[in-house]
Amino acid sequence: MLAKLVSFDTTSSLSNMDMMTYMQDYLGGFGVTAKLIPNADGTKASLFATIGPKDREGGIGLSGHSDVVPVKGQDWRSDPFVLRQQGDKLYGRGTCDMKGFIACVLAAVPKMAAANLKTPLHLIFSYDEEIGCTGVRPTIEMLGKDLPKPQIIFVGEPSEMSVVDAHKGTNSFETEVIGHEAHSSMPHIGVNAIITAGRLMTALDDYAAELEKFTDERFEPPFTSLQIGMIEGGTAPNIIPKSCKFRWEFRALPDYDTSLFPAYLEEFAKVRLLSAMQEISKDCNIITRKLNQVPGLSCPPDSKAVTLALKLAQQNSSHAVSYATEAGLFEQAGCSTIICGPGSIAQAHKPNEFVAVGELEKCDAFLARLTEYCAIQAFLA
Ligand SMILES: [Zn+2]
Repeated sequence: MLAKLVSFDTTSSLSNMDMMTYMQDYLGGFGVTAKLIPNADGTKASLFATIGPKDREGGIGLSGHSDVVPVKGQDWRSDPFVLRQQGDKLYGRGTCDMKGFIACVLAAVPKMAAANLKTPLHLIFSYDEEIGCTGVRPTIEMLGKDLPKPQIIFVGEPSEMSVVDAHKGTNSFETEVIGHEAHSSMPHIGVNAIITAGRLMTALDDYAAELEKFTDERFEPPFTSLQIGMIEGGTAPNIIPKSCKFRWEFRALPDYDTSLFPAYLEEFAKVRLLSAMQEISKDCNIITRKLNQVPGLSCPPDSKAVTLALKLAQQNSSHAVSYATEAGLFEQAGCSTIICGPGSIAQAHKPNEFVAVGELEKCDAFLARLTEYCAIQAFLA
């Protein structure tokens, strides 16, 4: 199953329809009807399927994303879209993040479908997770309306099958500086957008350094962190640049008030930069646009998802991670959510990505216990 899923090149920039219709057909073979939820232009879709009683609220959702990160520019020893086994490792794009989990779920479907479940299991497979968890959002909107709303959701992102109850959120922005063009010999009549952008970036960095004092040792690094990843500006060395744009993000601890970071930048711009710029030209400005936000995950102490997942994973304690996932969005929508999936995040997004066979075996055992649990246990939302 994993070899089949890896063979679909579902890089986020491409269509995932072949993989989705393959899964739909496969599920149909076991009497499971899967609904596809297409994007606006029909090039991609999420899949939602229920196994077990359809007339019952609640149930447990198994969530995964179908898309993978690009292989371009990476040094692969073999074709990334052909599964290759070497020793106890299975190599290929998405083996770990996160087709390994989806393959385990699909492989468990025959037993789930035959088990006469009392608690429904819902399969929720999304697209565009790798570009800001955007593809799952329309499906989440439909939960409790056009689709049943799971009481509990297990997101199978790679966690080496340990139970993860918290992750950081991602907040990304673009800041645009509009300066004033002039000949480079006349800096006093121009406003240099690149230098202004430099001051803004330094201010962001100083602010981020202050935030390092507020720590939560469950995370690595244990504080809200800043990253400035792209910059673009200027036209020639002898023209005072009119425009400069940079993209930045911060990865926030779940309890951090995410409005503070952009508010600080806005205040700094207003107090320290804007009036001097606008004295030279009224058109000068500093504009920050929010690009995307993925909320953090922070399970409450009495989380139903944590209690059940620890039992099924046969573990005593749950953990926190620094990468963002769709879990925060599900939790925000009122589904008790954790992360638990095969493979290690250390192998994700890298050339020669792999998942260890033992990790898939652990996931198979987890899903077998889940099936057993859902066959004997009926609970309502
Ligand atoms: Zn992932």
